Amino acid sequence: MSLDAHQEKLSFQAEVKQLLHIVVHSLYSNKEIFLRELISNASDAIDKLRFAALSDPALYESDSDLAIRITYDTTARTITISDNGIGMSREEIVDNLGTIAKSGTREFLSQLTGDQKKDAHLIGQFGVGFYSSFIVADKVAVKSRRAGLGSEHGVLWESAGDGEYTVANIEKKDRGTEITLHLKAGDDEFLNDWRLRNVITKYSDHLNIPILMVKRTDDGKETTEWETVNRATALWSLPKSSVTAEQYKEFYKHVAHDFEDPLAWTHHKIEGGNIDYTTLLYLPTRAPFDLWQRDSSHGLKLYVQRVFIMDQVEQFLPHYLRFVRGVLDTTALPLNISREILQDHPSIAKLRSALVRHVLDLLEKIAKDDPEKYATFWKEFGNVLKEGPAEDFANRERIGKLLRFASTHTEANAQIASLDDYIARMKPSQKKIYYITAENVNAAKSSPHLEIFRKNDIEVLLLADRIDEWVVGHLPEFQGKAFQSVAKGDLQLDEIIPENAEAKKEEEKKDTEQKQEFENLLKNIREILGDKINEVRLSHRLTTSPACLVRDQNALTPQMERLLKAAGQPITEVKPILEINPEHTLVRKLHDEKDQARLNEWTNILYDQALLAEGSPIPDPAAFVNRLNKLWVELSH
Ligand code: ADP
Ligand code: MG
Repeated sequence: MSLDAHQEKLSFQAEVKQLLHIVVHSLYSNKEIFLRELISNASDAIDKLRFAALSDPALYESDSDLAIRITYDTTARTITISDNGIGMSREEIVDNLGTIAKSGTREFLSQLTGDQKKDAHLIGQFGVGFYSSFIVADKVAVKSRRAGLGSEHGVLWESAGDGEYTVANIEKKDRGTEITLHLKAGDDEFLNDWRLRNVITKYSDHLNIPILMVKRTDDGKETTEWETVNRATALWSLPKSSVTAEQYKEFYKHVAHDFEDPLAWTHHKIEGGNIDYTTLLYLPTRAPFDLWQRDSSHGLKLYVQRVFIMDQVEQFLPHYLRFVRGVLDTTALPLNISREILQDHPSIAKLRSALVRHVLDLLEKIAKDDPEKYATFWKEFGNVLKEGPAEDFANRERIGKLLRFASTHTEANAQIASLDDYIARMKPSQKKIYYITAENVNAAKSSPHLEIFRKNDIEVLLLADRIDEWVVGHLPEFQGKAFQSVAKGDLQLDEIIPENAEAKKEEEKKDTEQKQEFENLLKNIREILGDKINEVRLSHRLTTSPACLVRDQNALTPQMERLLKAAGQPITEVKPILEINPEHTLVRKLHDEKDQARLNEWTNILYDQALLAEGSPIPDPAAFVNRLNKLWVELSH
């Protein structure tokens, strides 16, 4: 039978061209990783076949010795990596090797600078994959045949990595994939038995699939026998003491499809309890570029009794731990489990809570033993972990301990203050955890709302991430201490009410006097501002600013109001309360102002300033500027 080759020449997707360029140009200093990537793919393909064959043993086609084979040819100057895994159909090969389906890829690639060092670092967030072949090869030929299809359904994919590739139909007797790299001039170092074995054991010792090479005699002659080069036992099944840090790291790169070392890992073998499992969980060093994409890959690799079942299983970890990578191997699930059954299998909840515990234990340990490392973690994944208190009620308190905030009492603007630190620094009479929300940390820091706190040296958390307000909303208290916005309520601070009765009386007397003294002014302001405000009153929170706006205890903060508005959410607007500072010269001046027209101007400026200070837009900026200029001119006469 003659085969219609049906050869086509196709163009790589634009993103692939770009990726190819940077892989080839920024990773040449670490050339050997091409082999790790191709072996990793072959191993995945074999895992997939083994799983598919559980329900369809015919897929083995009388060849169930699953293995990866590596050969080289010094005359042709080629290296060939072949596997008898699941293989690819023509359509799959075009999809998998000609395009990148991840959303956000274009934006990611647009960040690349052209500076090869920086780009090499960035690419770590992406993974390298198949395209790393072109680091050492100027031509790559992939022959593949999908398991279960006839031998006439083989495909040949070929490319020089320069923007185009060809596909053609071929006859391929064995299922699986065979990749041949035609080495670039100068890369002959890899045409060497010792060198290849070395790279294999360095990166792939831990894969649970044998990697075979032809056995050679002592003087280097090929025999006809194959031998296994790697240890070929699943890394997670080994006792912790027999695994080196290097091996843990290399295994991470395989499971996580990451290019960089992990930040930390935790490895557990639990037997004889109410559920048996082994798990190896990793924290990446860096957030993948698509962490915030809806379809970003996440979850663990699931194995049942060493057999790979599926990838990206999300059921075992809550959403707020979606950055965790690794494997779970358990006997508590049946081998024939499907994604659908997985949803409500009774063991899932138990495994899930066990894994959450392992991750939280690990995070706590890092936070305690290595704050610098924890800061790295927090920078990358803090905003994901912040979803925890809302999602995982049972672990709210534990997650609360892991949160970090910027604060008036820590250096710089970094998020380094923990709630435990905060509580340790509280005043003896302090009952609440104070916070302020703002657009950014600097705006939070200079808010008039902080004045009374600064004067009395009371710590305030500076919340400037969009999610922060929501976090404290779902964490109404921590260690029995309620959260309190400094921009809400009347804020009679317990902390500064004088201890002795006499001083207390003195204070109260001063309060009443001031109220009487300013009664008229308050009434005037109320009339001038009309329905712009809900109320005007004397402030207990200002020391250096003349005025500020506050909200009712139950109202949204201005920050939240702006966010919801921007998101197009309907909100019922609650009018703010204007607080004025009776000690301030400007307010005194207002108090003494006899000219009603001028009082009107000043009052409006005061109100607009208070809006600006909390980061809210002023309704009529031009009027504000005109007023200010008018008064300025008056004053300079
Ligand atoms: P990743 O492994 O992160 O998915 P790669 O670039 O390494 O990315 O591979 C792209 C895809 O090509 C794989 O997801 C897989 O579907 C397919 N693929 C690569 N190598 C093989 C192989 N040896 N057998 C079957 N499919 C493969
Ligand atoms: Mg890969």
